[in-house]
Amino acid sequence: MPAKVYYDSDADLSALKGKTIAILGYGSQGHAQAQNLRDSGCTVIIGQRPGGPNYDLAREHGFDPKPIDEATRDADIVNILLPDEVQGDLYRARIRDNLRPGNVLMCSHGFNIHFDQVRPPAGVDGLLVAPKGPGHLVRSEFVRGGGVPCLIAMSDGASDETLRIGLAYAKGIGGTRGGVIRTTFAEETETDLFGEQVVLCGGVSELVKSAFQTLVDAGYQPEMAYFECMHELKLIVDLFYQGGLSYMRYSVSNTAEFGDYTRGPRIVTEETRKEMRRILDEIQTGKFAREWILENRAGAPVFQAMRRRDRNLEIEKVGRRLRRLMTWINAKEVDSSP
Ligand code: NDP
Ligand code: MG
Repeated sequence: MPAKVYYDSDADLSALKGKTIAILGYGSQGHAQAQNLRDSGCTVIIGQRPGGPNYDLAREHGFDPKPIDEATRDADIVNILLPDEVQGDLYRARIRDNLRPGNVLMCSHGFNIHFDQVRPPAGVDGLLVAPKGPGHLVRSEFVRGGGVPCLIAMSDGASDETLRIGLAYAKGIGGTRGGVIRTTFAEETETDLFGEQVVLCGGVSELVKSAFQTLVDAGYQPEMAYFECMHELKLIVDLFYQGGLSYMRYSVSNTAEFGDYTRGPRIVTEETRKEMRRILDEIQTGKFAREWILENRAGAPVFQAMRRRDRNLEIEKVGRRLRRLMTWINAKEVDSSP
């Protein structure tokens, strides 16, 4: 059965009339959703801790950020746009007891509600409106008159009014211009984790690193390995994005296309697919969630060690040097000091 998709005409902004929306966290998603909603005529307040650039940014954008508990208390709709790994603790300490029956508790990723770190109290519906793109795009597409497609889901037993609020919210951030797909907390959370682990972040990074190292170990120049295995990936992904596998294959040479069909399946094998199913199983059983929650409770030692290690890989050092020379690519650097 095709997924239910909502567009502009399915959503009515009047569902948000007279309601105050608190956006908790003025980061990537927070700054974008808050400004889009305000531009759509909604009443928006911000819960953001002082002392950092995001607090200053909220003020620069004309908001008057308050502490998280205060913003929660003053709102009818509360959207938690804090990093997933801090949501559970902050929810229990600052948010939960400031919610009232009839409030709607929102998020842009189902991790914490699905894995029981955030439990909406009695009389409060859980609602997910998740843009399928980073915050800066949610803002820039909206300003251009478009919108980033979104997912929508509700907690068990949520009312029809909550769906109307969710669709209005999605419209307010521009989502219904791109299409809003109906899903469940479980499906959003599990497919999101699977995608980022197996393809987008985990799979692709490991593939690039391994291929780069294979060429360098065989005596090829690291600069050549960098261009072949990392830089050119963008050109291929852009073709996927515009026209799928077929358009990529139409655009590359026949030699490349023949290599694709005959060699690709030797890289991703039955063994890889078995591992994908194991990773999916760890997601579905909550094993991954527990690992990540406990990792954070321990002060994230594994996470920090791996981050340090990978920031100093040879491919990263070569890449930094080469990207500085390619002035047209708008190179970005993150701090790689140990
Ligand atoms: P960011 O890391 O960009 O922003 C986090 C915000 O939370 C900042 O304002 C930050 O304030 C604040 N914050 C962080 N730690 C604390 C703390 N301990 N106490 C109080 N405030 C804190 O988050 P994202 O926008 O990336 O993510 C928000 C949600 O959106 C997540 O659920 C994520 O999964 C979801 N999402 C994100 C997408 C993305 O592309 N980024 C895409 C779709 C969904 P400060 O500046 O002071 O640290
Ligand atoms: Mg995702």
